[in-house]
Amino acid sequence: MPPQTFVALGTVCSVNLYEDGTEALYRRITERLRQIEGAFSVNLPSSEVSAVNRMAGIAPVPVSAEVLAVLEVALAVAEKSGGAFNPAVGPLVALWGVGTETPAVPDADAIRALLPLVDYRKIQRDGATVFLTEAGMRLDFGGIAKGYAADEAVRVAADAGVRRALIDLGGNIYVYGKKADGTAWRVGVKNPENAGADLALQVELASGTVVTSGRYERFFEQDGIRYHHIIDPATGYPAERGVLSATVVGQLSLLADALSTAAFVLGKEKGLALLQNEYPDMDALILTADHRAASTPRIRQTATLLRGDYKWE
Ligand code: AMP
Ligand code: MG
Repeated sequence: MPPQTFVALGTVCSVNLYEDGTEALYRRITERLRQIEGAFSVNLPSSEVSAVNRMAGIAPVPVSAEVLAVLEVALAVAEKSGGAFNPAVGPLVALWGVGTETPAVPDADAIRALLPLVDYRKIQRDGATVFLTEAGMRLDFGGIAKGYAADEAVRVAADAGVRRALIDLGGNIYVYGKKADGTAWRVGVKNPENAGADLALQVELASGTVVTSGRYERFFEQDGIRYHHIIDPATGYPAERGVLSATVVGQLSLLADALSTAAFVLGKEKGLALLQNEYPDMDALILTADHRAASTPRIRQTATLLRGDYKWE
């Protein structure tokens, strides 16, 4: 069966199972992705995360083991990144409304008022429930759920004996297994200034994940200024540390997704240091506003710049 493309998790997903792709297996993967969306989406009132958010400041809410497990990883990355990645960022995401019909630059006072609610330390969990301890708190898994979903799509495929797969969940990519011709996979990283049209980088890898957070993904413009969807929880404003895109390469897409968001918020130096010091099995590639390409050392062997207007540093 040919590769399948469909909408799930708020983005365009495509799944290629190559010669092992049967209709039943494509369906199983699509259903698994929809199930994950059904648990994690803040846009679906019926999701587990929406239930937790509705009960903020009121009571703990029983959640599934997978919501708890993803929350644990999110909190670990929050801790290691000094809160640059923050699953409690929901109130700010809602206030800005980037990606909704009515995004607008909020009042500085409104932003400031929400900062105390954007505190991941105020999330309590006890192995079966999650409790947001203050009214107005709101979880948001937008920076990590697609990574988890990519890992799960790969797991379903691998369990079914699929030899190779290419999973692309809105740019959150997993290449699994060995290609038929034995060559390495090649994954492109978009040119952040012309994301629809060309690539800035290419990475060669064996089985693994490539996840990018970019300021081109979701944004609006007001008075000639671009406001994108990745919020610095410390300021309440879209993160502006000179990063156009941050890419993380590794084996676990769940982690790579959270870390790409974290690296984007932290900026080049601190983002690369986070990967090198805390996640040495993974790599990062950062494209900056002054047209530099920076990376953790190992991946320089297998990454190629495709555009002359960027220089490695
Ligand atoms: P990504 O594209 O993976 O970097 O994730 C961006 C999405 O994650 C946004 O659309 C928000 O839903 C959410 N988000 C925004 N800022 C943060 C942050 N600092 N930490 C965690 N999630 C965030
Ligand atoms: Mg992310």
